[in-house]
Amino acid sequence: MTATVAVTARGAARWRAGHPWIYRTDVSPTRAPAGVVRVTAGSGRFLGQALLSPASEIRLRFLTREDAALGPDWWAGRIASALARRSGLSGRTSAFRVVHGEGDGLPSLVIDRYGDYVVAQLLSAGLEAHRADVLEAIGTVLAPKAVLLRNDASVRRHERLPLAIEDAASRVPDEIEVFEDGIRFFVFPRTGQKTGAFLDQRDNRVRLQGLAAGRALDVFTYQGLFALHMARRASTVLAVDSSAAALEAARRNGGLNSGSPVEWREGNAFDLLRALERDGQRFDTIVLDPPAFAKTRSAIPRALAGYKEINLRAMRLLAPGGTLFTASCSFHVGRELFLRMLAEAAADSGRSIVLCEITGQAADHPELVTVPETGYLKGAFLVARD
Ligand code: SAH
Repeated sequence: MTATVAVTARGAARWRAGHPWIYRTDVSPTRAPAGVVRVTAGSGRFLGQALLSPASEIRLRFLTREDAALGPDWWAGRIASALARRSGLSGRTSAFRVVHGEGDGLPSLVIDRYGDYVVAQLLSAGLEAHRADVLEAIGTVLAPKAVLLRNDASVRRHERLPLAIEDAASRVPDEIEVFEDGIRFFVFPRTGQKTGAFLDQRDNRVRLQGLAAGRALDVFTYQGLFALHMARRASTVLAVDSSAAALEAARRNGGLNSGSPVEWREGNAFDLLRALERDGQRFDTIVLDPPAFAKTRSAIPRALAGYKEINLRAMRLLAPGGTLFTASCSFHVGRELFLRMLAEAAADSGRSIVLCEITGQAADHPELVTVPETGYLKGAFLVARD
């Protein structure tokens, strides 16, 4: 028998407003174990079914408004719907996100496909309780050769879940070769960041492949993807990262692709940008894709100072007419703060900077308007007028 849990009027209103998370203080005390529960209002009116995480501040994550049995078929149905929404990607890339958690109506579940393999993350205690059903559903819908669980994401600590990287069904290889709009690269599902790659920047990388020109600079290159896309059109590319291991992978990725020469340089982005500016260097195309500088709300002021510094220097390095693509993946720095930071950087740069386009994460990372947490990546295409 599925347990029943009551929520406050505030909790019920939140779900009505389209947000699936109900916090601890809006859930009546329960001894029910982690997993699916029925949820009612204080009045006893049925509201839906949710994943219960007994130790988490996010106590409930709504899955349905219906009272149907949630077995492997139900999970397979939701995953199949998510897959169908990605059908436009077929032939363009062999690496994409099949399920983006709340954005696909499957809170705390991430499923990424890399060629014949799947890398998944179960990010709540409620979901972890249904691991077997979820894995069965992945097998049914995606028929991968093997599934790896990258359950080493630190958010699992809030759920009192262990951090682990586990082969769920057969063994996923240490490296998988995939492609993205004509660019080939290796993904390292066990050791790479996130589930192995930054799939969320795909659309922005593809855009850069179309408009890169002249001398290009890729700052925070990781395993070289923006650089390799730009090398299709630019005459030379300088790509920078502080991680020697990431650059080693980038070099190997370079060997899989033709294109203009790329110089892979190890270094600190802040120092490098300062040195390039001091030397009076100019670039026609620049990418700035830093890691999240603001991991918490209290880190916002320092993060904004960091973002402003690198953007200001990149703007000064632009040749007249040159393009800068700049991004921030800090959830806590929203669109408005990001644009204000860019305005301040532009003002201080002494250049006339045109905002051509504001972008976000790739379409396989859907951002629900009612769930702000599903969106985190902001990008801007800027051009120096003179
Ligand atoms: N553009 C990449 C993703 C970048 S992730 C892609 O599309 O796949 C951010 C990268 O910034 C990581 O590789 C990390 O090693 C690097 N990094 C972090 N701090 C840095 C610093 N101060 N200087 C240079 N690189 C840095």
